[in-house]
Order: sequence, then C-alpha cells, then structure tokens
Amino acid sequence: MDFVIDPPPRVTLPVRGTDDLFPVHRIYCVGRNYAAHTIEMGYDPDKEPPFFFQKNPDNFLVGRDFPYPPASKDVHFEFELAVALKSGGTDISSADALNHVYGYACALDMTRRDLQGVAKKTGRPWEVGKAFEASAPCGPIVPASEIGHPDAGCIRLDVNGQRRQDGNLDQMIWKVPEMISYLSGLFMLRGGDVILSGTPAGVGPVAKGDTLQGEIEGVGTLDLKVV
Ligand code: MN
Repeated sequence: MDFVIDPPPRVTLPVRGTDDLFPVHRIYCVGRNYAAHTIEMGYDPDKEPPFFFQKNPDNFLVGRDFPYPPASKDVHFEFELAVALKSGGTDISSADALNHVYGYACALDMTRRDLQGVAKKTGRPWEVGKAFEASAPCGPIVPASEIGHPDAGCIRLDVNGQRRQDGNLDQMIWKVPEMISYLSGLFMLRGGDVILSGTPAGVGPVAKGDTLQGEIEGVGTLDLKVV
C-alpha cells in the first residue's frame, strides 16, 4: 500500500530553547473573549458569550514574514495567547482542564476583516475571513512545566513601534480552563490541538512594510513583518 499522491507535510510548532517540535492537530479560536474588544466590534459582552471558530492547522506561520493575503483590502491583527494541548478527551471538567495543557505561545489571529464583515452580514461561514494561508503566525511554544499556567499578565502589541493593543490575560471572559472544558463538550479534543484564546481591544489594519511586535508577560514575544 502506498499514498496515491505525496502526503501533505506534518504541521509543527517549535518548542522554545530546544530542537523539539510540537505536532499540530487542530486550531480552535475564541471570538470576543475580552469585553473591551467585544464592545469595539459593536457587540454587548453581557448579552453574547464568547464562541468558537476554527482555522486550518496548516495556517500556522512560523519564523517567516506574513504575506499580505489576496482578496482583501482590510487585513487586521489580533494578538492572542495560544494554548497547546498535550492530551484531550471529551467532557473535561474545568478543574481538570489545565492537566491537558502542554504549553503556551504568542500568536496572531490575522483576519480579512472585509470578508468577515460580508460573512457576518449574510450569515455565511467565516472561513474566508479567518482561515486563509499564513493567517496564524505563531511563536515557539513554552512548556507549562517551565512557566506554569499564566492567568494574568500584560498582553500587548506594537505596530511600527506604536502601542496598539494593551490588555491583560486576567481580562479574558472565558478563562483557559473554561474554554477547554466547553470545547470538550462539543469536540473530541486531542493532544496537538491549539486554542487561540481571543484578543484584547485595539485591533486594526496592517499594510505591507509594517512590523508587528507582540509580547505576553511570562510567555514571550512574537515579531513579524508584513510583506
Ligand atoms: Mn481572534
């Protein structure tokens, strides 16, 4: 038995300070998980709880410039804490959830906001706005065995040296254990799943030539150029 075509390459993320690789299974993303961002997008955080969408695993971009994608004139940055799972299951309790976390990373949920806007208006799915090539730039994973499980600390992004996003992980509406528990009631989670946990306020457009510098206290940094 043999593959009838070349199998696609396995998607991996580097582990900081090592030659080790984290194999990626799925990418789940939380929408509107910081109240101030929910409000800037025109929604009421008290009336609408956060929700999930997905990107494709091979949308991760590691160690390369971000290529401005086709079909959009309004590509936005959303800087987020990524949560990498080492194991999974269904119906995981919040109390047990962090036992399934391998580590954390800095990530961007790049968004074709104009296409997402059309999808919202017409009730269509979000993939064209969210799940395009290189739409998930991600830094190296830092094992929880080294840094613990950060539930507070600055999460900030500068664009061309100007501070654009400045939040704190403690502002998440759904905390990491809650999102793992909730997701595990909808999907079979597995080791290799990565959750992008939502973005604080201040999202905005990028242009070719921009440099993005993100930092999450206790987790690390992510530098990116738009080309
Ligand atoms: Mn996002």
